Amino acid sequence: MSLRFYDTSAREVRDFTPLREGCASLYLCGATVQAPPHIGHIRSGVNFDVLRRWLEYRGYRVILCRNVTDIDDKIINVAAAEGVEWWEVAERNQRAFTSAYDVLGCLPPTVEPRATGHVPEMIELMRRLIDRGHAYPAADDSGDVYFDVRSFPDYGALSNQRIEQMRGAGDTDDERGKRDPRDFALWKGARPGEPSWDTPWGRGRPGWHLECSAMSTKYLGSTFDIHGGGLDLVFPHHENEVAQSKAAGDGFARYWLHNGLLTMGGEKMSKSLGNSLLIPYMVRKVRPVELRYYLAQAHYRSVIDYSDEALYEAAAAYQRIEGFLTRASEVVGTIERAAEVPEPFAAALDDDLGVSQALATVHGLVREGNTALAEGAKERVAELGGRVRAMMDVLGLDPLSETWAGGADSGLRDVVDSLVAVALEQRQAARQRKDYAAADAIRDQLLSAGIAVEDTPRGPRWELRRG
Ligand SMILES: [Zn+2]
Repeated sequence: MSLRFYDTSAREVRDFTPLREGCASLYLCGATVQAPPHIGHIRSGVNFDVLRRWLEYRGYRVILCRNVTDIDDKIINVAAAEGVEWWEVAERNQRAFTSAYDVLGCLPPTVEPRATGHVPEMIELMRRLIDRGHAYPAADDSGDVYFDVRSFPDYGALSNQRIEQMRGAGDTDDERGKRDPRDFALWKGARPGEPSWDTPWGRGRPGWHLECSAMSTKYLGSTFDIHGGGLDLVFPHHENEVAQSKAAGDGFARYWLHNGLLTMGGEKMSKSLGNSLLIPYMVRKVRPVELRYYLAQAHYRSVIDYSDEALYEAAAAYQRIEGFLTRASEVVGTIERAAEVPEPFAAALDDDLGVSQALATVHGLVREGNTALAEGAKERVAELGGRVRAMMDVLGLDPLSETWAGGADSGLRDVVDSLVAVALEQRQAARQRKDYAAADAIRDQLLSAGIAVEDTPRGPRWELRRG
């Protein structure tokens, strides 16, 4: 069975054949660094990290380019509100993103270019577009440069829209100097007090769409394999990227993969909703590896509607796998990863990265492994353990890997668990006799020892407090 993906552009599942044999080039739209990430942002990172790991397992050398948008209206607005430089805001939030990716075990990209470091490449691309009659400097000398959407017959093909049905791009305050309101800004002319760079058409700063075309081409070539990003980027961002690159004569992306969004109560994550789901807060609710499991387990194209309950269920599912491997290694010693993953697991991932089906294979083998443990069948335990480890490794979730081992810290965690259970029984008894002061005192004592207790529908659970 061959590797295949759902291609947004073709609107169907297509076999993956790379441009160059043995190599897969992947461009991922990264963060606009105006705020620290919530789990909706990091979901994309986790989904594409699983893709990258699977491509590597399948023998491809993966070149992953994930950009950082370090200049943008929102960054400028945050900086103005705080009275600091735009680059302070960008730097601070880029670090928060990097740390969040690291904490969740996402491998670093091969290259992580920043928009402001690629102004010459953007100027060159605008030059090519102007020369070919697909772009023009604004008629009002504002310094804006626009893409002429009517000059590109395929405009709308990626997002499956007809140009007549589109509204104006709405990317400038007024439609200053545009030939058509749907024309979008490649470059935004300088405004007083804002950062700007010199171009042949006046001073200004990069438009968001232009930078991705310029950076993907610079690092991956004029044609590359896969372009990824969140589903909310299909229009206008990716539509505009295609238009710019193809109109300039480049082949651009051969496959378009989009991850589904993370919602809360059915609503798209807004800043106010997102604040409660910032990564440092989330990794106090569950361990980072459990959060990764939660984000990775659903199909990458599905919507995840966030709930604490589902998060804790995912953590419990992960703990079942971890518990088996921990007990197995206590019984048989070191468990070597199998060289290959089981066939049904591989078939699930080959088929548009079906992580949920792949995990069904993992859990099936964990159940078999627990039976083998109960029967004292050591060889079988070691064999099943090795296969479970191999599968979890491909997902970046192997509990016994260097990245995640220690979080479980087998023996010690069990000891703390029983001590905390005793304390929680006392707290429960205090609550029952309505001595809330005593109950709170027990919780506070645990907290000062670094153990945070949270009441959940499934009873209280505890975590070591980080930070
Ligand atoms: Zn982009």
